[in-house]
Amino acid sequence: MKILIVDDSSVLRDELRTHLEKGFDCIVSEAQDGKEGLALAKSNQYDLIITDFNMPVMSGIDMAKQIRQMENYNQIPIGMLTTESSPLMRETGKQVGIDFWIVKPVEMKKFVSLLPKVFDIRK
Ligand SMILES: [Mg+2]
Repeated sequence: MKILIVDDSSVLRDELRTHLEKGFDCIVSEAQDGKEGLALAKSNQYDLIITDFNMPVMSGIDMAKQIRQMENYNQIPIGMLTTESSPLMRETGKQVGIDFWIVKPVEMKKFVSLLPKVFDIRK
């Protein structure tokens, strides 16, 4: 399983990667903003994308919107891991095809343990 993490915080990326690698047989790629994430998604095929909302250059929403429009990504789970919690933002997320929305701070171990449920969404 190939997972893409997109977040401008290297601390968060490290923590999330550590827990993902512990919890799953996976290869994790990292991007620090939406533009980088989009480029990686174009040149690779990921099975799961977890993205931050607020990032420089391109937000997680703008990135997800573009990724969702790619034919090879219309069934791939995309999750938002963000400090944003407003219903309006969540609704926007839903409209662009975000499958799950988790508000930071979150206990990373717990978050990762919930991911198999996310995969069920798309089965
Ligand atoms: Mg951020």
